[in-house]
Amino acid sequence: MSTQKHAFQAEVAQLLHLVTHSLYSNPEIFLRELISNASDACDKLRFEALANPSLYGDQPELEVRISFDKAAKTLTVTDTGIGMSEAEAIAHLGTIAKSGTKEFMSKLSGDQKADSQLIGQFGVGFYSGFIVADKITVESRRAGLPASEGVRWTSKGDGDFEVETITREARGTSVILHLREDALDFADGWRLKELINKYSDHISLPIKMEGEKWEEGKEEGQPGQMVKTGEWETVNQANALWTRPKKDITDQQFKDFYQQIAHDWEPPLAWSLNRVEGSTEYTQLLYVPSHAPMDLWDRDKKAGIKLYVKRVFIMDDAEQLIPRYLRFIKGVVDSADLPLNVSRELLQESRDVRAIRDGNTRRVLSMLEDMAKAQDTAGTAAATEAPASEGKIDVGSGDSTPAPEPTELQGDAVTDVVDKNDAPTAADAAAKFAEDNESGKYATFWREFGAVLKEGLGEDTANRERIAKLLRYASSTVDTETVSFADYKARMKEGQKAIYYITADTAAAARNSPQLELFKKKGIEVLLMTDRVDEWALSFLREFDGTPLQSVAKGAVDLGDLQDEAEKKAAEAAAETVKPLLEKLKDVLKNEAEDVRVTTRLVDSPACLVVKDAGMSMQLARMLKQAGQ
Ligand code: ADP
Ligand code: MG
Repeated sequence: MSTQKHAFQAEVAQLLHLVTHSLYSNPEIFLRELISNASDACDKLRFEALANPSLYGDQPELEVRISFDKAAKTLTVTDTGIGMSEAEAIAHLGTIAKSGTKEFMSKLSGDQKADSQLIGQFGVGFYSGFIVADKITVESRRAGLPASEGVRWTSKGDGDFEVETITREARGTSVILHLREDALDFADGWRLKELINKYSDHISLPIKMEGEKWEEGKEEGQPGQMVKTGEWETVNQANALWTRPKKDITDQQFKDFYQQIAHDWEPPLAWSLNRVEGSTEYTQLLYVPSHAPMDLWDRDKKAGIKLYVKRVFIMDDAEQLIPRYLRFIKGVVDSADLPLNVSRELLQESRDVRAIRDGNTRRVLSMLEDMAKAQDTAGTAAATEAPASEGKIDVGSGDSTPAPEPTELQGDAVTDVVDKNDAPTAADAAAKFAEDNESGKYATFWREFGAVLKEGLGEDTANRERIAKLLRYASSTVDTETVSFADYKARMKEGQKAIYYITADTAAAARNSPQLELFKKKGIEVLLMTDRVDEWALSFLREFDGTPLQSVAKGAVDLGDLQDEAEKKAAEAAAETVKPLLEKLKDVLKNEAEDVRVTTRLVDSPACLVVKDAGMSMQLARMLKQAGQ
């Protein structure tokens, strides 16, 4: 039997150096990571076995066993999952594949203290084992391979690892940690049980430990000791978190579960668990993260929803279950109706899937509405509460800007959904927010994800009104992005007939635009649209709650009743006097400008450029130019 030496990928070596030299602040997370890998491995086996039941061999049980040997100073995590072939062990335990780990590394600052807190938030997967072990041995056999094709992987966590072929009767993997002297307290039944409860209670798999009992010393004066009973006992709850009654789940358990599925060690802003009944039955557990991932703007970013069918894990990143503009949402959907062998292709055509996506969308929007309401009630937003039930939005049709309508969202019969937990959820959430006085949650959400939500105006016709109510902008009178359309309307001047906005690259550019002069003079608030997506998104929104939206940079701005008669007359008179000049300007600029007009909109500046009403705005034109069109 030969032993081969392999060098770690450079990043792994770098990471290991860090793990073994400086990251001790949160040593216990290694157990969370190893159990989560064991659980993933069992999920993978369950899934592969759907097509090939013989993979179970003579071991139908999927479970994790945790054992320790005080004398040998080892701690072992064994699972009956999919296992690894030799090639897989080399590939998976020698490189960093996980994006969360890469993200972790990119955030390292070099400051030991800050970095060691980061590891607690992220975890570094398998390599976390080296926080407590000076040597790790992994023994594994992939399901379906003969016992003679087992593998032993060993490393001391320095530059390299060794691999040899072994005979292993049991399918699955054992990770054997050779504990450091300063980590020997993990070789203790109570301590381990406590950690399993803390980190892994929500794992749907039984996590077992050998029972122990106290045995008195055999002779007078000899101390008693704990001895193993040989009975394996399940120490976690071992049913998937989302299958339990909501009232039995603590906030901490919800948060822990989020960390596990999202690989995000910062707590989520909000979550919602619901069993939905009706023509389509499913359980949804959805989370709003508290910060944007690095790849939020990556066009190929995967959605964060895991799909289960009757508790069986089917796939990660099921993008059919959530619209693209909510791609930052994390969670689990467990369907009672889909077939177990459902493929991505099949998902695209399924009516059930469409019903689930619509249900998820509505749920997320109501979570966001709750957050926004909590913030308004807390009085951080200066404005009055949105007239939630009155908002009415006209769909932007016949607009000159490109309006790609995703047809799949339209004409979809809304499934009759009976949501058992609907009322308590909203109330629960509102109460929770009020209680924690976490009134800044919506502001956080908006800062991190607001620009993505705006995509929904174009993408989700059915929910356009609800989305519009969730939008927040800065304005000519409010510096922070906290003004809703409803706030704006409540402050409109007597006689004002439109919601005015201006698009620009930055808030400063918007504020200094000559197009704003007249509005400032008249004391009319103007919303500042400074996201790249604003122009496109607003092309889908012609009005809010019966009031048209009007760009101050487009066409002739008619201030209607706000314009006083004297001004109008003066302008008309001026137009007469400067008519010859206008004609001249029109002639000189005939290739550059479509029209030259006298205006009342300027106060200090002599001239400004505007776009005709139906024209593309300058901002959009600039964007298209940048995109090479
Ligand atoms: P992640 O779990 O995010 O993929 P880890 O560093 O925790 O990252 O694990 C790296 C890889 O090693 C896993 O993706 C998996 O392929 C493999 N692996 C780790 N533990 C096990 C296990 N118990 N059984 C099978 N494969 C495992
Ligand atoms: Mg892992």
